[in-house]
Parts: sequence; structure tokens; C-alpha cells
Amino acid sequence: MSEPCRLCPLQCGIDRDLSFGACRAGSTMRICRIAPHFYEEPPISGTNGSGTVFFSGCSLDCEFCQNYKISKSYVGKPFTPEQLADELKSLEESGVHNINFVSPTHFSDKIRMALDIYRPNIPIVYNTSGYELSSVVEELLPYVDVFLTDMKYSDDNVAIKYSKRPFYVENCKKSLDIMIKNKPLVYENNLLKQGVIIRHLVLPGNLPNTFGVIDYYAENYKSDAVLSIMSQFVPLYNSSITRKLSPLEYKIVLNRLYSHGIENCFIQDLDSATDDYVPEFYTEPL
Ligand code: SF4
Repeated sequence: MSEPCRLCPLQCGIDRDLSFGACRAGSTMRICRIAPHFYEEPPISGTNGSGTVFFSGCSLDCEFCQNYKISKSYVGKPFTPEQLADELKSLEESGVHNINFVSPTHFSDKIRMALDIYRPNIPIVYNTSGYELSSVVEELLPYVDVFLTDMKYSDDNVAIKYSKRPFYVENCKKSLDIMIKNKPLVYENNLLKQGVIIRHLVLPGNLPNTFGVIDYYAENYKSDAVLSIMSQFVPLYNSSITRKLSPLEYKIVLNRLYSHGIENCFIQDLDSATDDYVPEFYTEPL
């Protein structure tokens, strides 16, 4: 029997050899897509793409998930750490700029095992929802070069309403402190070699939540990490938010950024709000 799982702040304590966690994952690592991806921020995607590895399941349970086909079930192909290590080598040989683990939290132990077997000679990107335990982030520091992390919420009531998880804000802030302290920004040829990008998806009708994220970034991390504001919300899955961001909301968010003099920032255009950017996944049933 394995240990009770405590890889994410929910700490549901499930024995994943015997059952499935709230993240929907068992003990077998399942992967839904391994391929170059061109729709991350420019210093991540570059010209050759980012070598993405999309995992099945998710430690958050967002009602509006844009990748719901893989996050809401335990689909995809099973991989051992040895097999993942082989895939990392192949991705690296394809010429991508980095390895990008997407929704990795619930398999972070197996990712470390794979990287112990083979460590690519390109940056390792940890692409997370921001619902991370600081102890897990500490363990990842020797393995990860770039944290591409969401800060979805500045208000736990909003986090519980839309993602059904407690203590998001406290855990996200603690983890960000560790990430940013340990990974100062380093660029080479316009690509991010090391550092932290904080992503925030603006939820229509929830601008105070976004203001909280922007204000926190401005007050704490403005010169040490990059902010990426995403405006492409599309109502998908079970979203109780049934519309896209309005032009007025978009303008108000831009004004908030400008009021802080934030320059180290990526902002998506409003017209990127389509589901065209959702990739195809392997969705073989369990
Ligand atoms: S990673 Fe999954 S199984 Fe582990 S504590 Fe979080 S929700 Fe539970």
C-alpha cells in the first residue's frame, strides 16, 4: 500500500494505489498530449514551440475549465517515469525551446523521477494552476527553471465558487514567494531561460478578483516576475459564467494595469476569446 497522497493543498489523503483522488488521478501517470505548442507567451513558445506534456486530471475543479476533456476524467495513455524520460529526450531532439509540464501537480513526484532518469539540456517549465503546497514547490526547485503559474484568485470565496478548493489564495501566495525568490528572470535570445510568469485569466463579471491579483503583483513582484493577463475566457464545460469578457471590462482591466505603471506584462487581445486554441488530446478511456 502506498502513502496517502498530499501532493496538493487539498491533501485529500487518498491512497492512489487503491482509489482516485479529488484530482481524478490514480497512481498511474496518464498523459493526454505530448507535442510542440505555439500558444504560450512569446518567451516560452519562441519560434520552435514549447515541448508540452499535458497530464490527465487536475488538482483544481474549475467549472469553466478550458481543457475539461482531460482535466475532468482520468483519460489518456499510461506512462511510467522511464517512458516519460524517453519522451522528454524525443521532444528535446525535435528542437523545441523547453519542456513544458501542463497541470503537473498531482504527478509532480513522478515528474521528478523522470527528470532523475533524463534531464534535458533545455529549460524545464512547470505550468501550474497555482494551487500548490510550498513544500512541493521547494522539492521542485532543483528540477524546474521556469514556473508558469496561474494566480487565478485573490479571494477565496471566488476560488471556492468556481474551483471548489479551499485556501487557494494563501497557498498560491506562499508558493509564489518561493518561486520568485529562487528563480530570478533570465532571458537569452528573447526566450525565458529561468524565472516566473504569473498568469491570470480574467473572469467576466468578477473584476474585483482581477484587481486583487493585479494589485498584489504590483505591490510585491512588479520587477521580479512577469505578469500575463489572459482575456480569452470562453464559457465551456459547466461554466455558470455564460458570456465572454466585454470590451468595457477589458478596458477597465487595462486601466488598472496602467494605473500601477506595469510594463513587464503580456496582455491577450479580446479577439483571442475562441476555443480554437484548445489542442486535441489522447482521450482513451481507462
Ligand atoms: S493531488 Fe489529488 S490525490 Fe493528491 S491530495 Fe491533491 S487531490 Fe488528493
